[in-house]
Amino acid sequence: MKIHEFQAKQILRDAGVATPRGMVARTAEEAAKAFRELGGPVAVVKAQIHAGGRGKGTIKGSQQRGVQLVKSADEAAKVAGNLLGKPLVTIQTGPEGQVVQQVLVEEGCDIARELYLGVVVDRLMAGPVLIASCSGGMNIEEVAEKTPELIFKEAFDPEAGLQPYQARKMAVKLGLQGDSIRAAEKFLRSLCRVLVWKDGSLVEVNPLVVTKSGGLVALDAKMSFDDNALFRHPELLEMRDFSEEEPTEVRAQKAGLSYVKLDGTIGCLVNGAGLAMSTMDLIKLHGGEPANFLDVGGGANTEQVTEAFRILLSDPHVKGVLVNIFGGIMRCTTIANALVEAYKSVGFNVPLVVRLEGTEVEEGRKILANSGAAIISAEGLTDAAKKIVAAAKAK
Ligand code: ADP
Ligand code: MG
Repeated sequence: MKIHEFQAKQILRDAGVATPRGMVARTAEEAAKAFRELGGPVAVVKAQIHAGGRGKGTIKGSQQRGVQLVKSADEAAKVAGNLLGKPLVTIQTGPEGQVVQQVLVEEGCDIARELYLGVVVDRLMAGPVLIASCSGGMNIEEVAEKTPELIFKEAFDPEAGLQPYQARKMAVKLGLQGDSIRAAEKFLRSLCRVLVWKDGSLVEVNPLVVTKSGGLVALDAKMSFDDNALFRHPELLEMRDFSEEEPTEVRAQKAGLSYVKLDGTIGCLVNGAGLAMSTMDLIKLHGGEPANFLDVGGGANTEQVTEAFRILLSDPHVKGVLVNIFGGIMRCTTIANALVEAYKSVGFNVPLVVRLEGTEVEEGRKILANSGAAIISAEGLTDAAKKIVAAAKAK
């Protein structure tokens, strides 16, 4: 789960990390009011979407950028008006962009240097890692690709947290001096603590700004959290913004399905993540492109299969559906009955290929064959993949 910048900054503030003062606005008038309340000669209006790259991104069909400095309440209102209700396209949103529903109006900060800070869970190191670079700002992806030696890493123990000496070591590598080193020690340790406390998978501050007076301020903040740990963070669940998420994925989650939408034309319904992965591989091997990853889990019942079919068929790109079920704990007869019932109730309009294997498979196949439904039966994975690719192409 991801949250907005203004929410991430609130979490940082609560953890004692310095952030600029700011207010959320949902209308142009609110943006003007926020500018006046902040009282500064300048402010920055920032589109709030669950994607980065806003500073370089533009509103579809206009020149308006996602982050802009403004010098008056009128200008704040104008920029907010240009952003609100319109899709912002950045390197992370895809060509459709993401509609801006709120903006953050924030006091302007006098920037001396822009640094990069991130805390992630690193699989290779099997633990949390602090990542930092002097080359902060808007091009960190490029830095990581072209000059990886400019990126510093420090693994830390999740229980003990980042140790003071580790924080100071990092501060020196970042070229900080004097009071800034002391400020960095507190800043870095708090940031690392937030990742652990909140079960984050990413806590990113880019840029971390060194102000002209040597202070450190988190000018941008991005966080994502481990979905499996959300049950113990009701405070995070309150921040969830479903309008930023793929609607079919939200729907699938409610039905207890693991579903990820992809760009291909062949819908897949599979039980077990490993089987789902190999099914997708086989579809590609035989010249097709999967439209999704979908794992119905171990206990696929009629309701789940029906909802899964509805989700697959709601994607206009889907030209065929492949069901690949291994009846291990689950009997093939149960699955076959569920499939037939779901097939009939959703009104299928594309070819459906079913490969069943496992407990009571013969009886299961008979149920499919005698159901009267136009289900193409397949034997084995390769046969199933070939049949669905051919059927989808003919469609
Ligand atoms: P994104 O990473 O999505 O592009 P940022 O929040 O990092 O968005 O903003 C982009 C750039 O805008 C920053 O690198 C910084 O230079 C500038 N900026 C952002 N917020 C402020 C602010 N409050 N005051 C001054 N400049 C800012
Ligand atoms: Mg940024």
